[in-house]
Amino acid sequence: MGKNAELDTHVAQVLERIGEIARSLRWKQAGESGLSLLQIRILGFLNAHKGERIGVARLAEELQVSKPTISESVKLLDERGLVLRKAGNGDGRSHALVLSERGRKYATEATPMIDTLSQLDTSTKEALLLGLMGVLEALFRSEEVQVQRLCFTCLHYQGDRRTKHKCLLLDRVLKVAELRSDCPEHEFRVS
Ligand code: SF4
Repeated sequence: MGKNAELDTHVAQVLERIGEIARSLRWKQAGESGLSLLQIRILGFLNAHKGERIGVARLAEELQVSKPTISESVKLLDERGLVLRKAGNGDGRSHALVLSERGRKYATEATPMIDTLSQLDTSTKEALLLGLMGVLEALFRSEEVQVQRLCFTCLHYQGDRRTKHKCLLLDRVLKVAELRSDCPEHEFRVS
């Protein structure tokens, strides 16, 4: 235990409680919409990765679920008009999955706690985001979780993790809100 043990415990308890609340809101949302939690996660992933070519195999890998289970969920999302299949590269097998207009609206509006967070002021939200990204980085460095594709673990990040942030790949300064937590261009920095 470090010298801030009491504070550490308190922060850990609050994070855990917020995680529980987010999960229970997700369950409620799933019940009301008639979608499964996995289907909601698929919509969320596709929404966060617009412009990327995403198929069943990628979803299975990212969401840590078997390909048959993902295929079944995607089929139902397709039937409900939330996801569309775009033809692949000509081999007749692979399809890229994209959100329909309705699917995107659903995924954007259905993030739990978004209304609550919108009531906080910008500086509080920025401090929260920086702190939580710091937690994710620390979890990754202590090998508690697999690679997190966030700016703080990226080869292209230059900054102090507080007020200065620059992406060397994009060659531009990033505002706090622009820091990425799941960036497709992320390259892991060994340090
Ligand atoms: S490549 Fe992506 S993760 Fe890396 S610093 Fe740039 S924006 Fe951040």
